[in-house]
Amino acid sequence: MIEHPEKGLILFDTGYAPRFMEATRKFPYRIYRWMTPVDMENDFTAADHVRAAGYSPDEVRTIIISHFHADHICGLRDFPNAKFLCSREGYSAVSVRRGFAAVKRAFLPDLMPADFAERAVWIESADRVKLPAEYAPFAEGYDLFGDGKLTAIALPGHADHQIGILLTDGTLPPVLLGADAGWSRKAVQENRLPHPLAFIVFDSSRDYKATFGRLAELCRRNSGLRQVFTHCPESRALCDLPYDGGDCE
Ligand SMILES: [Zn+2]
Repeated sequence: MIEHPEKGLILFDTGYAPRFMEATRKFPYRIYRWMTPVDMENDFTAADHVRAAGYSPDEVRTIIISHFHADHICGLRDFPNAKFLCSREGYSAVSVRRGFAAVKRAFLPDLMPADFAERAVWIESADRVKLPAEYAPFAEGYDLFGDGKLTAIALPGHADHQIGILLTDGTLPPVLLGADAGWSRKAVQENRLPHPLAFIVFDSSRDYKATFGRLAELCRRNSGLRQVFTHCPESRALCDLPYDGGDCE
């Protein structure tokens, strides 16, 4: 969750929520549940996290969606007043898919709010900006709010048109929210690709490897930038720890 001084509460993805079980009740969507069994009994949903921070889910004004895999969009329907900031091309790649074609992309149509298209704001309509040299080899992105604080960058491969967010508010150390472009910070730092079997679920192995290589290079060049990945075991702890000025290990 990001507390933006002018734009209010912003979420980056929404994780799992109990409606995942309903969305995977019927075949062929149940295949998703068989492939990735989920236990949410003791876990907070995105809405729980918002409430724990002292806000109501109604107060969330923007949800940035990195990509449309089910484990990133289960909570979308819990935030009735939020706009959805996402890649138009990423949305187009999944929005009409149903049945096996959807499951193949880890997309569960029932998780999408009925009015998604009306509430969507395409990142491609934001200003395209050049990134400072310290973020090379990434050269450009979309300045989502025109204030230089949240810049969407392309991280394709794991999913079609996946995006990450570069957070640079000038007062805190910069952070890159990389979603699923890497599985752990350590793997990116060591430029260690996932097991070959993992590539089965990626939309493009070639793009994934290229993105991963660029993240590894960024890590090598810019040790002050925190790279945070959704499934990284260190990410949860990192969220509660003060920044120690160390490298991105
Ligand atoms: Zn994913």
